[in-house]
Amino acid sequence: MVQSLDRSQGRIGGGAANAEEAPAPATFTGNRALQIEEPLIFEMGQPGRCGVDLPEPPKVKDRLNGLKRAGEIGLPGLSEPQVVQHYTRLSQKNYAIDMGVYPLGSCTMKHNPRINEKVARLPGIGDLHPLQPVSTVQGALELIDRLAHWLKTLTGMPAVAMSPAAGAHGEMCGMMAIAAALEARGERAQRKLVLAPESAHGTNPATAAALGFTVKPIPANDRGRVDLDALKAALGPDVAAIMLTNPNTCGLFENEIVEISQAVHAAGAFFYCDGANFNAIVGRVRPGDLGVDCMHINLHKTFSTPHGGGGPGAGPVVLSAALAPYAPYPWIVKDGDKWRVAEDGAPVDGKPLGRLKAFHGQMGMFTRALGYIMSHGADGLKQAAEDAVLSANYVMASLKDVMTPAFDGPCMHEALFDDSFLKDTGVSTLDFAKAMIDEGYHPMTMYFPLVVHGALLIEPTESQAKEDLDLFIAALRSLAVRAKSGTAAEEFKAAPRFAPRRRLDETLAARKPVLRWRPTNNPPEGDPMKQAAE
Ligand SMILES: *Cc1c(COP(=O)(O)O)cnc(C)c1O
Repeated sequence: MVQSLDRSQGRIGGGAANAEEAPAPATFTGNRALQIEEPLIFEMGQPGRCGVDLPEPPKVKDRLNGLKRAGEIGLPGLSEPQVVQHYTRLSQKNYAIDMGVYPLGSCTMKHNPRINEKVARLPGIGDLHPLQPVSTVQGALELIDRLAHWLKTLTGMPAVAMSPAAGAHGEMCGMMAIAAALEARGERAQRKLVLAPESAHGTNPATAAALGFTVKPIPANDRGRVDLDALKAALGPDVAAIMLTNPNTCGLFENEIVEISQAVHAAGAFFYCDGANFNAIVGRVRPGDLGVDCMHINLHKTFSTPHGGGGPGAGPVVLSAALAPYAPYPWIVKDGDKWRVAEDGAPVDGKPLGRLKAFHGQMGMFTRALGYIMSHGADGLKQAAEDAVLSANYVMASLKDVMTPAFDGPCMHEALFDDSFLKDTGVSTLDFAKAMIDEGYHPMTMYFPLVVHGALLIEPTESQAKEDLDLFIAALRSLAVRAKSGTAAEEFKAAPRFAPRRRLDETLAARKPVLRWRPTNNPPEGDPMKQAAE
């Protein structure tokens, strides 16, 4: 550990500055050491060339009614090794959880234990097909049921809907169950409002709005928690539910949560808990004991199933007894010693919502999550939550003299800083984050939650070794000290200097996305990049 720290201090010391200020040397190829410049596959290939020998297609009668293609479709022509090398090089451009510290807040990017991968690849699990006869997948159904059992046990809730494919999808499921319960009470039309704290993850208001509710923001107090008085003032016969994350997106435990749930229930409304941060409390707190009516669990966050780059996720939703009858199809039933799947049209007691998804959910993720739960055991899960909180507080305590914590006191699994330590330095949160890339770190979550100015949200998780956290902390300290010296703004604005790409015009990319490749020698009319340049 001491060595790591020395190394980092050496790098930021006087000697290193010269090396860092020198412009990156130009190379003949444009490559930088073994970082290869990678063109698009369309720019590499030659039309008309083919990597394999294909037999002449058989002569068949033209049944396309004259709609036969007249020209080339423009597939790139490459050899097999060219294709393999292209995609391997592209894959190496990804930053990944397996490469280093991944401090994103609100997303729990933790290590994916390999034991989970091993069980997910067992032929009896990895080779399953969802349309196999039920008699041949008895073990798989038992696996789903066992995971459901542990999710209910860990949350203290009586029911769980397993099929939602992600947290946001789980929110949709839970809020649909709430809407159905209100409908059954004859109050759906009258209860139009969903309350959400200002710090809520964007998916919360989006879900409520997608279901036709009106979202009413609830302000935070100066401790970063829901303002209880403001909440009580907003509650009334027009409120359907509150959507609340706990620990919240500021990384803080809502310590008035029991009072919140009592007030919400007294007003006849439901309590949707966003469980994305369950990682911080699993094994320590059962949300059911706090008065939660439903909560999604991001298996890909709390239970370490791999994610990033868009999936796959899994967002089972635990439900209270009042909401359980509305759980969507399918679910798993045991008749004697046989498992079966209750599908649409099955005779049931409840009033299921219908289906949210084809088949049963993400079997691979279920397997990995159950692997995680069972390999950790009760004591291990609890320790994982405690270590996640300990790591975040270690980061917070180690940086609070050079960066500015957004709120006083200890945090849960995330350390949240605001940008006041950068005041008058000419360096912004964005510049700071970009400079981290030069130090070999994926930046933390920036500018979220919105309630904190220039937010920097760090979630180290339980899976980083202390010496790696120490080096990370030392790197951030060095950046903070350099930023505050007041002479480094230019340097920060130029970061990242060592990455293959520097700063991209993110606004232009978002406003005028170029979604289709066209040959550069033949730009079409109305080319968006050309227009943007004009
Ligand atoms: C990640 C997250 C979600 C959404 O979950 P997805 O699985 O990405 O759809 C919702 N709320 C919070 C607080 C989150 O961190």
